[in-house]
This record gives sequence, C-alpha cells and structure tokens, in this order.
Amino acid sequence: MLATDFLCDFCGCSYRDDRPMIEGHRGSLICGVCLGRAYSQLVVRNAGITVPEHIACTLCLMNKQGDYYQSPVRATATEHGADIEQAPGACACRWCVDRSAQMLAKDSEANWKLPTA
Ligand SMILES: [Zn+2]
Ligand SMILES: [Zn+2]
Repeated sequence: MLATDFLCDFCGCSYRDDRPMIEGHRGSLICGVCLGRAYSQLVVRNAGITVPEHIACTLCLMNKQGDYYQSPVRATATEHGADIEQAPGACACRWCVDRSAQMLAKDSEANWKLPTA
C-alpha cells in the first residue's frame, strides 16, 4: 500500500510524516489536524453537537449518547486520492476524540500536543 492510501476520514488529507494519524475501527483514520479541531470543540469548549440516532461515530461505529464532532467536509477515498465535498462529513464521538487525543499526545514521535483552546 502507498502512503496515499491512508486518508483522513474527516478532511481527506493523506498520510505524511508531519501529519500524525490515529486509527479507529475498520481502518478509519483521523489526522492530527482534525483531531485537534475535534478536541478543542468537544473537550476544551464543550461545544459538541448531538447527532441523530442513525449516525454512528466513524471511529468506533457506535452511536453513543453525548456530544459529537462533525467534519465540515465530506471526504471520500477514490483511486486518485480523496474527493472533497462541501457537505457535513464524518462524525466522531467525544469518547473517541478524547481517547485518540490522549494517545496521540503520548506518542513522542507524533510531536502533537493537546489543544488548550
Ligand atoms: Zn484530517
Ligand atoms: Zn466513537
């Protein structure tokens, strides 16, 4: 597999050395940039959204009660990279965002810090 086969489900960017990623279930991925955005909205500002019951978290595939982060764009992996549409995209639950952020912050190679704002 090529590095470009690894796409963030939340913004469609491909994996690079300077862009750490965290894996969820079934190969779903969230990059450090999106994770930072999600963490700051959900955890720092406590401003997550509530999603309908049929919407599942992209990372754990569950619909839990509580707050979600929803990506402002829809990213779909294609043969040539990612198609980005200006439509509400993947959702991540607070639990996954918090857990992934803690994991990434502990990874010294990722060079990623928990957002404080
Ligand atoms: Zn991303
Ligand atoms: Zn989740």
